[in-house]
Amino acid sequence: ADPRPLDRTTTTTCGYCGVGCSLRVHVREGAVAAVTPVHDGPVNRGHACVKGRFAHAFTRSRDRLTTPLIRAGGRNSPLRPASWEEALVFAATRLTAIRDRHGPDAIGMISSARATNEENYLAQKFARVALGTNNIDNCSRLCHAPSAVGLTAAFGHAGGTNSVDDLDDTDCILIAGANLTEAHPVVGARIKQLVLRGARLVVIDPRRIDLAEMADVHVQVRPGSNVAAFNGIARVLIDEGYADQDFLRTRANGLAELTALLADYPPEHAARLAGVAPETLVAAGRLYGAARRPAIVYGLGVTEHAHGTDGVRTLSNLAILKGAVGTPGCCGVLSMRGQNNVQGASDMGALPDLLPGYQPVTDAGVRARFNRTWQAEVPARPGLRILDMFAAAIAGRVRAMYVIGEDIAQTDPDSGNVRRALAACDFVVNHDLFLSATAEHADVVFPAVSFLEKEGTFVNFDRRVQRVRPALDPPGEARSDFDILHLLSRAMGVDLGCPTPAHAMAECAALTPTFAGISHARLDREGPLHWPCRDAGDPGEGRLYLGSFATSDGRAALAARPYLPPGEQPDGRFPYVLITGRRLAHYNSGSMSRRTPNRQLQPREVLDLHPDDAARLGLADGDLVEVTSRRAAVTYPVHLTDTVPPGQTFTTFSFPDAPTNAVTSDAADSTTGCPEYKVTAVSLRAA
Ligand code: SF4
Repeated sequence: ADPRPLDRTTTTTCGYCGVGCSLRVHVREGAVAAVTPVHDGPVNRGHACVKGRFAHAFTRSRDRLTTPLIRAGGRNSPLRPASWEEALVFAATRLTAIRDRHGPDAIGMISSARATNEENYLAQKFARVALGTNNIDNCSRLCHAPSAVGLTAAFGHAGGTNSVDDLDDTDCILIAGANLTEAHPVVGARIKQLVLRGARLVVIDPRRIDLAEMADVHVQVRPGSNVAAFNGIARVLIDEGYADQDFLRTRANGLAELTALLADYPPEHAARLAGVAPETLVAAGRLYGAARRPAIVYGLGVTEHAHGTDGVRTLSNLAILKGAVGTPGCCGVLSMRGQNNVQGASDMGALPDLLPGYQPVTDAGVRARFNRTWQAEVPARPGLRILDMFAAAIAGRVRAMYVIGEDIAQTDPDSGNVRRALAACDFVVNHDLFLSATAEHADVVFPAVSFLEKEGTFVNFDRRVQRVRPALDPPGEARSDFDILHLLSRAMGVDLGCPTPAHAMAECAALTPTFAGISHARLDREGPLHWPCRDAGDPGEGRLYLGSFATSDGRAALAARPYLPPGEQPDGRFPYVLITGRRLAHYNSGSMSRRTPNRQLQPREVLDLHPDDAARLGLADGDLVEVTSRRAAVTYPVHLTDTVPPGQTFTTFSFPDAPTNAVTSDAADSTTGCPEYKVTAVSLRAA
């Protein structure tokens, strides 16, 4: 052990995945010496994964941005270092000119799931007050927007129905579209322990993921066929007497419509649509139906589809039919958020149609309350979603983009289109830790700080609000997104108020009934709190809806949704399906995890391919393969594995030298605009 004394140890929340593990960050001589999980951490109970524990060297990477950069000589000039004053005046002058000349809606703003709640609160306030537009969205649009809309419609709130602790009581877990052991490792490990203790396990996933090896039933669905599989399981629940008729009579709506629709989904037909054997679907339905306390855990494999909201609704149907939500001892429906603060970014109203707490911007009464506090005039018309901002930029209606902490040119689908949108703008502002692909298009890049260097809160996947505390000093002149937004708005002549993150949370709580009882002081005193938390004495609700559902009539809503095919289908020209997702060692764009020892665990990206397909294509393990879609081609080393079935391939978008999103589909969920990252028709050939 290193004998030198530690400077300090700080308890904070992991800034990688949405599990939200509690970590202790030990600092020596200004750098992270070690990270250890909090022994009695509320979610992680003494565990942390390879990202939370070891992926922190990025904080002292030589690539960190430490001063503002500006491109003052026009688009073709290089970015050069600038003082904060020069960069702020430059950005404020250009944004003000664009707003005054083309109107506030000529500016689009994208906030971040890596930013704290307080930063997201301030970002949407900046958009609505300093810019005067509802053109504010966040990257949950690209992952869990269908969860927010689907869960709200089914149950009333835009989050999972239960606490992860409720899983301790489950006797059957149905996991759909979530590779937990790689994307949410601590919850994946917790589920493994439950299975080893006797819980039954159903996995619905096109790939034979790690947890499928332990499953009683693996429903290996064809990509894009979730709705068919969920409808088939619902039919089994009803036909075989597993539906809780008393619950349905007293606490749910929509049974007649759903029953009528399910006449078209006998297991044989549903199974054919989903590409599985009928008996597999029936077995899944029987396991879930026979359980006393079944739980549903799902992820991006449900939401990132052209019919992702239908996927969330038809999956929620299973819990409603079974009466396994909103009842004592129930385990409900948990939605696994990808990035650390996906839930919080939306909770804070970084959305084009909703103010904090999912309060509609179209509601005059809601706007009046915000206008009084903000001394402003919030526009009544909903703004643009992320993909619509790109289309509007290419069409010339959006003239400036403001991107906080997301590398949209690498992580958003059909990235050629994203780059065209950025190039079409007159002005682009970016906050980031590193010079990213997005920053290449920016006129101003502000150096931002990471979760280890700032103050605030995150909300994890089970609606738990947790404190984030600075363990390190920021490098150079880097500043938090919170400070940057304040400085820029002041340079534009607007004071956003709430000078500290604690003040921002207090203002949010005063305006947002579901956060009314949450404050930094209380979180520091009592520890994490689940929202809704309606006053200072409310302990918060981990298990929701025990009295009634939060819908307008207090009843859960079943949804009758037919299976519709994905946006792209394999055909003679593009005969394979590409699925994108996550791998254990890396996080999202990889900008942080690639600059840590985790890079040794996975130094480069590969394309997973079944050995039978590889043999047909004349490829051996490690050979280069070119993946071509209707949009672009990208080359990867091939990795032979039978975890993907023949006809399918898998990779991630964590490496900029394998820009996977150049090829991904431009299809999106018709309800929410969430892109279909999970189904892209491609061709393969040896490169
Ligand atoms: Fe961080 Fe998620 Fe790993 Fe926990 S499971 S340590 S939150 S990356």
